Amino acid sequence: MSGRSAERVRGEVARLVGDDRVVADAERIARVSRDSWVIAVWRSLQASPPVRPACVVRPRSTAEIAALLAYASREGVAIVPFGAGSGVCGGIQPDAEAIVVDLGDMRALRTIDGHNLLATAESGLLGSEFEAALNDAGYSMGHFPQSIALSSVGGWVATRSAGQFSTKYGNIEQLFVAFEAVLPSGAVIRTRPVPRASTGPDLRHLFLGGEGTTGILTEVTFEIHPLPEATERQAVAFPTMGAGLEALRRIVRAGWRPAVLRLYDEVEAGRAFAGAAPANESLLLVLCEGSAALVAAERAAVEATCRETGGRLVGAAPVGSWLHHRNAVPGFEVFLKQGMIVDTIEVAAMWDKIDGLYADVLAAMRAVPGLIVASGHSSHTYSTGTNIYFTFAAKPAVPAEIEPLYFHIWNAAMEATLAAGGTISHHHGIGRVRREWLPRELGSGYEVLVAVQRALDPAGIMNPGALLRPR
Ligand SMILES: Cc1cc2nc3c(=O)[nH]c(=O)nc-3n(C[C@H](O)[C@H](O)[C@H](O)COP(=O)(O)OP(=O)(O)OC[C@H]3O[C@@H](n4cnc5c(N)ncnc54)[C@H](O)[C@@H]3O)c2cc1C
Repeated sequence: MSGRSAERVRGEVARLVGDDRVVADAERIARVSRDSWVIAVWRSLQASPPVRPACVVRPRSTAEIAALLAYASREGVAIVPFGAGSGVCGGIQPDAEAIVVDLGDMRALRTIDGHNLLATAESGLLGSEFEAALNDAGYSMGHFPQSIALSSVGGWVATRSAGQFSTKYGNIEQLFVAFEAVLPSGAVIRTRPVPRASTGPDLRHLFLGGEGTTGILTEVTFEIHPLPEATERQAVAFPTMGAGLEALRRIVRAGWRPAVLRLYDEVEAGRAFAGAAPANESLLLVLCEGSAALVAAERAAVEATCRETGGRLVGAAPVGSWLHHRNAVPGFEVFLKQGMIVDTIEVAAMWDKIDGLYADVLAAMRAVPGLIVASGHSSHTYSTGTNIYFTFAAKPAVPAEIEPLYFHIWNAAMEATLAAGGTISHHHGIGRVRREWLPRELGSGYEVLVAVQRALDPAGIMNPGALLRPR
């Protein structure tokens, strides 16, 4: 894009923000040159020599990021923001002329405001560090992605993240109150925390799911919650996934919002809770938390609804087991080294479409030769519908066919999701893996999104190739 040599870019960046901000450590450069997309991991195991960006820079302040982006816009150099690299969609794939902006040195917790229930942090702070600081002060954000220890608070916003307790606390868009960001031009934008406003289109949405294409978030303010007074747990076995989905629909329709409602199909229940839950049945995990009175009433109502829809209470043990393992991270590399590929695909649909979507996506994936197993669970429920988080494992005849097989399965899942009337992503985002389906997902809205992105970034520097088709 810029035609500059990597050495010249590094020199210019060093003059802007200081030599010590330009990363020289080869291991760190390798780490920030990709996210955790399984195909990026696979390619990193294959590539020789690997593609490396022209420069990796670790800014310390908004002013330094502003200087970097103004320079990049002027000179036409691509900028790729790196939060903590846990994204799973290929959102971070710098080419050899790009600058990666590694936010790992912008991790300050600015304020915890218990009166207004707000907390503000720099965007590179890890989620687990943020939550631990809140807990020490008697609060929680209530946002628990499985990757909480691997992801940054800015990355949560940039990908429209969802946490395991979202049915009660909401997803990141409900918790994201205000921000500071640097626009591609280098200009700084700051919004104020207010409980709600009727002041035109909501600027937070330029960055929610922006995936680094609209600028760099430097500071985020989230809603927080006092630590809960009481917690109760229950697991429920259902003869079918459909019966469990119907229970979810009725629970939220009645206004109940247990923090956790996770419904596993029989394949996943068998894998994750072997010996701890009945075999060959779907399993629902319920966790209620909040004031003691609310929790007691909610648990009773949820249990009654589950019984009405064919559920059988099986005790709290499976919930305890899940809580214990819930942030354990599966190692993609182990499978790849055995010539196997494992990945997840999360989609969502309204209640009248969810049973069909669940069946059709599984059938479409299972029809692909080389697929070993596919299963699903629902983990985020709304009054209008729910998500399904599919997991698949596949093995081609020879390792060289891993990529074609992988994309064949993804293609089957995405096409089946659109045909069933679902949305192609519930919370992992678009990156590169879903990019080709985004125009069909958004219809005529796709060109509006392109126009907004171009208006903010006329030079086309911000994370080119992620989210939107390359210009
Ligand atoms: C084991 C595992 C479990 C996961 N579980 C969950 C889960 O439960 N829920 C969930 O929602 N996701 C989950 N994810 C996905 C991932 O953790 C989320 O997408 C997370 O929000 C990414 O944050 P990050 O800081 O790692 O972002 P990165 O991977 O660094 O970046 C993601 C994208 O956002 C951009 N970006 C990052 N920071 C900024 C910034 N400050 N300003 C502008 N753009 C930026 C990047 O350029 C990139 O396009 C999981 C991932 C893994 C590997």
